[in-house]
Amino acid sequence: MRKNLVAANWKMHGSRSENSRLLEAIKLGVSSLDCEVLICPPSIYLEQLEKELAGTNLALGAQNAYPKHSGAFTGEVSFAMLTEFCCTHVIVGHSERRELFAESNDFVAEKFIAALEAGLSPILCVGETKAQRERGETNSVILAQLKAVVNRAGIAAFANALVAYEPVWAIGSGLTASPQQAQEVHAEIRRFLAEQDSDISKKLSILYGGSVKGSNAAELFRQKDIDGGLVGGASLNAEEFITICKAFD
Ligand code: PEP
Repeated sequence: MRKNLVAANWKMHGSRSENSRLLEAIKLGVSSLDCEVLICPPSIYLEQLEKELAGTNLALGAQNAYPKHSGAFTGEVSFAMLTEFCCTHVIVGHSERRELFAESNDFVAEKFIAALEAGLSPILCVGETKAQRERGETNSVILAQLKAVVNRAGIAAFANALVAYEPVWAIGSGLTASPQQAQEVHAEIRRFLAEQDSDISKKLSILYGGSVKGSNAAELFRQKDIDGGLVGGASLNAEEFITICKAFD
């Protein structure tokens, strides 16, 4: 059974008071929904959210970590540290990290493995840039990103992971992949993984991310290979985020 999940990626937004206000509204709005809802705040707020989410149906995740257990890595936190705050998931390979922090496919694979070793479910983000799409390279880019992880971690590792298709040109841009464009890539991801292990591929949740809003969520989520969403900007607006969760539910 594929898990239906809507994940909020707060990116580098929030404050203690804003977080509390936003969470209060989200908690009320999603309390009776069946789909799983995950909140990924900046790491500094994990302890606050752990407390404020206790006893609710919302799960807690992180946006990033460093793939070493401990050591002289100033400014970094490890995947194991995230588990001390009840995190269940962690995003790896987000395009902002690939672009702004020069994270390579290999480094993303290292993080994916470190997340699993710490007992977390990685949400592996893959996606093409606008130029790559225009050159007809969408599938080859995405398969290269996936292969780097499959080759290092092994296909069995995907039993405890999720994949998020996030076209880079759609992130934070207001442009959304059409439901058909998104479905085509989701189907290609599932086809590629099925070549390695059809059972794992069938059970894998593949999220869509890239300017998901209340107004486009239902149509995206109706697609057969779209199992949920990874939501950035719209997750900072309670009403919008709840509408997205409801669309999926
Ligand atoms: C994201 O950052 O993962 C994302 C999908 O952002 P947005 O929804 O703002 O496009």
